[in-house]
Amino acid sequence: MWSVVVSLKKRYGKEKGRAMKAEIIATGTELLLGQITNTNARFLSEKLAEKGIDVYWHTVVGDNTKRLEEALRLALSRADVVITSGGLGPTMDDLTKETVARVLELPLEPHSGWEEHMTAIFTRPGWVMTNNNRKQALLPQGAKLIFNDNGTAPGVWLEHQGKIIVLLPGPPRELEPMFTEKILPLLPATDSLLLSRILKITGVGESAMEDMVADLLVAQSNPTIAPLAKFSEVHLRITAKAKTRHTCLALLDEAEEKLVARLGVHVFARDQETMVDVVAQALQRQQLTLAVAESCTGGLLSHTLTNISGSSNYFLEGIVTYSNAAKINILGVPAGLIEEDGVVSEQVAKSMAERIKSLAQSDLGMGITGIAGPTGGTAEKPVGLVYIALATPDSVICQRFNFRGKRENIKERAVMSALNMLRLYLIQHIG
Ligand code: ATP
Repeated sequence: MWSVVVSLKKRYGKEKGRAMKAEIIATGTELLLGQITNTNARFLSEKLAEKGIDVYWHTVVGDNTKRLEEALRLALSRADVVITSGGLGPTMDDLTKETVARVLELPLEPHSGWEEHMTAIFTRPGWVMTNNNRKQALLPQGAKLIFNDNGTAPGVWLEHQGKIIVLLPGPPRELEPMFTEKILPLLPATDSLLLSRILKITGVGESAMEDMVADLLVAQSNPTIAPLAKFSEVHLRITAKAKTRHTCLALLDEAEEKLVARLGVHVFARDQETMVDVVAQALQRQQLTLAVAESCTGGLLSHTLTNISGSSNYFLEGIVTYSNAAKINILGVPAGLIEEDGVVSEQVAKSMAERIKSLAQSDLGMGITGIAGPTGGTAEKPVGLVYIALATPDSVICQRFNFRGKRENIKERAVMSALNMLRLYLIQHIG
């Protein structure tokens, strides 16, 4: 009863090769007020790109019939596929279906199957079906109902004068499975699809990185390569367009190989992978254990490392020794070292790393000492000065950093740099 019509797929299948333009209209005043982020548009755009459908416009409209009507008319005048999100619920401000029906001059008709389904849902103890709920069973004439496995608002698939109009519920937990499982297979095939891959780079700023790969950025039209500056890292997004997934992946692999040849160990991860994922995998693979002694990061390094499930296999302990006394009494950093070089110094960071390694009997030890600010800096030792040391079975290395930003930023940058030091050690010294 709920199956959407298979003939649509066949019909559009014949048109394989047609370039299609899509517009996404997200409705909801909370989006305009900045109370929620339009993650539905991001999700739908990604999925449509994978299908080879070009998304040309994102529109956001509040819960206002007149403005939604204007947005729909404009979208229908320029796009082949118009997808709306939100406004399918039972309440007064849920206007999408009614407005679409008015714009297309189609009457709303009850869908008996959905009404029965709703009635069955509302037989549960304490549930009362209202006229508002009945409104959800109304569909524009000729529309197909898309079953909602995760809520009471069904989706709508409508073909009208050569356009495809899809109405989806707002909550992402309803919209995402509905779109992936029920709408994507119905959308016509195109002669190309887009696939993207993100390469994550650290230890080099955006402009320096661009210099290293400038010719590749300019020369490439398929795939295209675009830099994106992120916190503590730079991303390169490679996007390939081809007829098949296989060809897209081959293009992405080829471009990735060229970029990695230039950027070397600066490339630390791809796509969803994070710095701590990479470090965790390397520690696990090499069966090395780690302990950390933190000062200015206040436990953030330990927190980040233990965010990974299975971290007990390699993370033995983390101690926050914030005061001088704690560094001396708990870790055993020589008091003379602190007096001589100051608590924020290479010697103290190295001693912290060595002492925690020895106390925990781990293979590796890290020590972090610095000034997170905003107070406490001097001309000689400014805010953002951080020493990070790594004690290994053979030696102790230490790096000095001058981070910028607010207190939290400095702490986060210090953690990212500590993880990167570990990563580089694990690559360079062990393989
Ligand atoms: P409901 O039956 O829940 O009323 P609906 O289809 O009417 O569904 P809306 O009322 O527009 O959807 O939105 C419901 C909730 O879904 C919002 O409060 C918000 O949490 C989420 N939501 C709506 N639109 C978006 C969007 N574009 N991106 C992310 N989340 C969204």
